[in-house]
Amino acid sequence: MGVLLSTRAPRAALSVPGARATGTRRCSRHAVVIVGGGPTGLTLAGELALASVDVAIVERRRSQDVAGLRAGGLHSRSIEVFDQRGIADRFLSQGQVTQIVRFAGVALDISDFPTRHNYGLALGQQHIEGILAAWVAELGVPIYYGGEVTGFVEDATGVVVELSDGQSLQAGYLVGCDGGRSLIRKSAGIDFLGSDPTTSNLIAEVEITEEPHWGIRRDALGIHSLSKLGDGPVRVLVTEQQVGATREPTLRDLSEALIAVYGTDYGVHSPTSISRFTDMTRQAASYRKGRVLLAGDAAHVHPPDGGQGLQTGVQDAVNLGWKLAQVVKATAPERLLDTYHAERHPVAARVLRNTMASVALRGGDQRTTVLRDCMSELLGMEEPRKRFGAMLSGLDIHYDLGEGHPLLGRRMPDLDLVTAAGPLRVFKLLHEARPVLLNFGEPGALDMAPWADRVRRTDAKYVGRWDLPVLGAVTSPSAVLIRPDGYVAWVGGPMQARLADALSLWFGPPPAT
Ligand SMILES: Cc1cc2nc3c(=O)[nH]c(=O)nc-3n(C[C@H](O)[C@H](O)[C@H](O)COP(=O)(O)OP(=O)(O)OC[C@H]3O[C@@H](n4cnc5c(N)ncnc54)[C@H](O)[C@@H]3O)c2cc1C
Repeated sequence: MGVLLSTRAPRAALSVPGARATGTRRCSRHAVVIVGGGPTGLTLAGELALASVDVAIVERRRSQDVAGLRAGGLHSRSIEVFDQRGIADRFLSQGQVTQIVRFAGVALDISDFPTRHNYGLALGQQHIEGILAAWVAELGVPIYYGGEVTGFVEDATGVVVELSDGQSLQAGYLVGCDGGRSLIRKSAGIDFLGSDPTTSNLIAEVEITEEPHWGIRRDALGIHSLSKLGDGPVRVLVTEQQVGATREPTLRDLSEALIAVYGTDYGVHSPTSISRFTDMTRQAASYRKGRVLLAGDAAHVHPPDGGQGLQTGVQDAVNLGWKLAQVVKATAPERLLDTYHAERHPVAARVLRNTMASVALRGGDQRTTVLRDCMSELLGMEEPRKRFGAMLSGLDIHYDLGEGHPLLGRRMPDLDLVTAAGPLRVFKLLHEARPVLLNFGEPGALDMAPWADRVRRTDAKYVGRWDLPVLGAVTSPSAVLIRPDGYVAWVGGPMQARLADALSLWFGPPPAT
């Protein structure tokens, strides 16, 4: 199917009162419109812009400010995907490197994992979004702050995106990165399957006047904690007695919840943030319907246990970006977009599963306490620690690309290569978000001439071990085809499939001669 607009399509400027874009005026047409400028929408916009796709973000907030407490950092695989784009240092320089992987409160050390980033990064979502917004601005993506999408109309040629101010935008594709209450998902009629909340928590940063019981407390209601943030405010986490509040949480809600658990609110006052989260666990039945796609919280919601929501959204975006770019540019058929759902739906389904298990282990009754102790004992063993550590940090993601070498469908390690031009890290080859054919055999041996303008070929030597998280050492391949998202699409060696088939499948058929 053709696309409505190419990146070279003329843009009609609209002047919209109240709307601000970074660097440009609002245009009425874009190849892709993203609704929502949270971590997922920003990452997707960056990926599309690297592929020279005309993309814009419509964001309801008037600025990038994040209200309340949300994600507290990045896991290893998220740091890796930003390293693949050459921007990991921007995050690392603002956060604190630490071992952050936890399952049901049990710390899982990943410092022996075979990755340059064998740790997590403590960094608030406000800072993560700020860095992403600056990157996207450098890439020239307009963000229409203060713009609220109210609906859309789709036909065979594109999508008309309706805004609350009565104006509209036209797009070839529309991506809903608009969070858990996604209007795009609802308007597209995509089911959001799963379970309603069974528990509700408040998380806040406040001042208190009385000395509290510091640390974690568990009871039949759930988990609660009070901790001091250096010389700064007190971080409060408290489980509420009621589930189902729909309005924004207040200081009074926090005070009542504290009294119900501790018998006092410790003189709580001066909150700098109060947020509510629940254990609602739902996933979109389909990540795509026609020209409309979903990513991030719009496609999956779950409790924040294990800190996986932002990571999953960012990695959805990195999976979708290069595929959508090729479809927009008509170098690959539209069915390539179906691999987005096929690959990413199982990843989030697994996150939903492990967060549900984690919530079940929150309680303070005797049986849950004993069960948590058993889990802790198990996770202290080598193999379970590695498996859960790899799962929660995103390092074990395996897309089902069929039988073959263990690298197939797994993340390409960031090896130190030797090339004719000197030493080179694999991730550096991915900075432009283009596919790479890495040949370790006879220089120039692999024929990919018809794809030469789409796929970068590099002849290289590597003398070390090929080590994968959990799996350990694997046989050295003679070549690998790496997708722009850093996953291996084809492996050269004794059992190799035809390279031309993999190139056609992932990067479109060869141009007609
Ligand atoms: C208390 C708490 C703690 C968390 N901790 C962690 C953690 O430690 N680690 C982790 O990985 N994740 C964590 N998360 C989850 C994480 O915050 C989310 O997964 C992440 O923000 C999802 O990003 P997103 O871009 O998909 O959606 P969002 O961040 O929700 O962004 C959606 C954007 O869309 C905009 N929008 C919505 N509707 C419209 C519309 N109609 N028109 C225009 N714009 C619209 C919104 O203004 C918003 O900016 C936590 C969440 C909570 C609540």
